[in-house]
Amino acid sequence: MSELRQDPITHDWVIINPGRASRPHDGAGAGTVNCPFCPGNEAMTPGEVDSICTPDGSWLVRAVPNRFPVLSEVAPDPSLDAPHAGLWSRRPGYGHHEVIIESRDHELEVGLMAVEQLRRVLEMYVRRARALAARDGRLRQIVLFRNHGTRAGTSIAHPHSQIVATPTVSPETRRRVMDEIAFFDENGCCGLCRELDLECASGERIVLETQAFVTLAPYASGNPYQLQIAPRRHCASFLEVEEQELDDLAGHLRRVLAALFRNLADPHYNLVVSSAPLDLVHRSASHWFIEVLPRLTTPAGFELGSRIVVNVQTPEQAAVELRAQIATPPE
Ligand SMILES: [Zn+2]
Ligand SMILES: [Zn+2]
Repeated sequence: MSELRQDPITHDWVIINPGRASRPHDGAGAGTVNCPFCPGNEAMTPGEVDSICTPDGSWLVRAVPNRFPVLSEVAPDPSLDAPHAGLWSRRPGYGHHEVIIESRDHELEVGLMAVEQLRRVLEMYVRRARALAARDGRLRQIVLFRNHGTRAGTSIAHPHSQIVATPTVSPETRRRVMDEIAFFDENGCCGLCRELDLECASGERIVLETQAFVTLAPYASGNPYQLQIAPRRHCASFLEVEEQELDDLAGHLRRVLAALFRNLADPHYNLVVSSAPLDLVHRSASHWFIEVLPRLTTPAGFELGSRIVVNVQTPEQAAVELRAQIATPPE
């Protein structure tokens, strides 16, 4: 059972879904025998919705519905369709939630994956995002992410990403889009395009530049080693990424994640694709990007109470360390 409830003051939507509490957790490092994502255990997942295979038919990347979805494909309670109940708004928890199994290898971290395999994973990201967006007009946002390590919320160790299609715009995206539009109105240009121009000119916080992408440690990073990976070409939505951009992104992402892996000895992290809502009109103001958030510190009372984060590291130092790792690849 899944239900969306809206805070009447902030207008933030929350998913209420008690069913998620019962999902299994193998934690990190559990074996492969009972892993639903390992080859040979395909029957343990719901029916495959897409795959990329070798010529002899063995899968290399699979997409399957999540067994414990945060939103349900079938709206559980039609009575929730009445949107307002006095002060409060609620909606059926309708949406889609899929898992992208990134490799046949249970142990393989994406930072150590072959570039060709990472390219296949990115191909599946785009395929599933486009397929879900095309399903019906009720969906407003596609959220793509991967959690690595228990501190990042992993419940199954086998490398995988997730994709959720939601009928509401997330609070984070709503605020970001409003801020992007305000920046555009004040300055007449996209804020991230402007930032990329200035950051590339200074180089101080740049981690890696390739033909189509730039990775930087954002000026006001809230987290040690927080990274932003952005396309040079202005584009509001990840769903509009071009083939040659994906070719560049595979090698780029591999180098950045490998540097992070080596520098921090396999840190737990979240990777999120930040992309415009599906129905965004003001597309010149919004610029998609990938955010990587290593989970090295735990927010405490001050952060939670004030929403002011305290970062114990300068982003300039993070950029220096990661640039050095990229410049000296391992033997
Ligand atoms: Zn596995
Ligand atoms: Zn832009």
